[in-house]
Amino acid sequence: TDAERELLARVPTGLLVDGVWQPAADGRTFAVVDPATGETLLDIADATPEDGVRALDAAEAAKRGWATTPPRQRAELMRRAFDLLLERREDFALLMTLEMGKPLAEARGEVAYGGEFLRWFSEEAVRIGGSYGVNPEGTGRATVSHKPVGPAFLITPWNFPLAMATRKIAPALAAGCTVVVKPAELTPLTTLLFVDLLREVGLPAGVVNVVPTTRAADVSGPVIADPRLRKLSFTGSTPVGRTLLAQAAQNVLRTSMELGGNAPFLVFADADLDLAVEGALAAKFRNTGQACTAANRFLVHEDVVDEFARRVTARVEAMRVGRGTEDGVAIGPLIDDRAVDKAHRLVTDALDRGATLRTGGHPVDGPGTFYAPTVLTDVQPGSDLLRDEIFGPVLAIRTFRTEDEAVAAANDTEYGLVGYAFTEDPARGQRLMERLETGMLGLNTGVVSNASAPFGGVKQSGLGREGGGEGIAEYLETMYTLTPDP
Ligand code: ADP
Repeated sequence: TDAERELLARVPTGLLVDGVWQPAADGRTFAVVDPATGETLLDIADATPEDGVRALDAAEAAKRGWATTPPRQRAELMRRAFDLLLERREDFALLMTLEMGKPLAEARGEVAYGGEFLRWFSEEAVRIGGSYGVNPEGTGRATVSHKPVGPAFLITPWNFPLAMATRKIAPALAAGCTVVVKPAELTPLTTLLFVDLLREVGLPAGVVNVVPTTRAADVSGPVIADPRLRKLSFTGSTPVGRTLLAQAAQNVLRTSMELGGNAPFLVFADADLDLAVEGALAAKFRNTGQACTAANRFLVHEDVVDEFARRVTARVEAMRVGRGTEDGVAIGPLIDDRAVDKAHRLVTDALDRGATLRTGGHPVDGPGTFYAPTVLTDVQPGSDLLRDEIFGPVLAIRTFRTEDEAVAAANDTEYGLVGYAFTEDPARGQRLMERLETGMLGLNTGVVSNASAPFGGVKQSGLGREGGGEGIAEYLETMYTLTPDP
């Protein structure tokens, strides 16, 4: 449409290094595609390894100026960015829907959620404290202070193009760090438009640099190995996270890792089923199932499984599938062919092992990469989708009889990002808080993300937390100074 063309014409298509939009060193570009149509939206600069190092040069050069900018000034700049982002909510929402495929209503929600990181960390920027105290012997005074860790490299995934960028950029800026951002090659446009907004509100050159690239490993390798870099923050798959951790070890970098998940969703016999059904739809189908927080394994008490499955299936059958820009669409495209193939392979495997198909279970014909929203019951132990992240609109249900059995099944994974549990028994809720091996728990709710809360996982779901007071600590170093008894 005209509105889409007009918006795309305003998106920068270069790399941002030291405040200047520029082509890649070798002039190469790559296409960003609309997953709902398969059509190219824009061709953008494809950074080379030299571009990555130049971006780090700029971050290093801007480091001292930004670290010594008064916190209030850093905070007000971020607050202006928050205000302007919300003013331009429709632009950012449409751009995310175009490049990533999510329904427009969800994209608007992501502008609100992603924007909150700017507001939250603008408020944290002025509250970086320290402590002063007498040592136990009474012979000295200990001062503990915090300072920015230094230039940070931020690698983001494609599924939440705005929020994954602001969740890293905002705490880094609040702490006083300069950054190099490598957005996902599948959805870089939102990050490009966003950092242009940061320029517009007055962020100094070199504080935020952006290097979109199809050569992720080639570009990130030299940056991670460079002794000037001090911090790596990554959100993406566990295998890539492991590789990056190994690289970061050589340079002894501080790291934050938000990796894969395999979220259990427990429905007990005493659950409020209305709440559980709403929670299930949100936890499973938001972002068309493409979230590391997506419920992957539904574990439902055998007394309520028939009713739960019946209600969920009716709701899923009513979901409209289509391009995210169309009214009333609940299910957008998956990000690419590989994602469709993976979802279908997992569904086929579960059916081969004895699961029952209640609805869906097939790719959707036509242009774009769509998969029909699917409900499976009687999923058998050993099915691949109990182990692998589905990352698609497939709701797979198993049953349990006892709480012990449910907890054991929930914890039976190397992942530990988030869990969901529905029960009206507060004591049971408390036991689950203690026994579930996850970094987060939605107790009678299907959405946990919030800028004020520490988002992150345990086990192989990652290291560190994003958001909350914990989020800024990831970008701060601790300095302890001892002085003698005055
Ligand atoms: P996803 O399954 O979400 O695509 P990935 O881990 O493949 O997860 O990608 C997340 C981010 O990591 C993207 O920005 C991608 O370009 C980047 N990436 C992928 N492989 C590497 C690598 N070997 N080195 C550095 N970055 C990588």
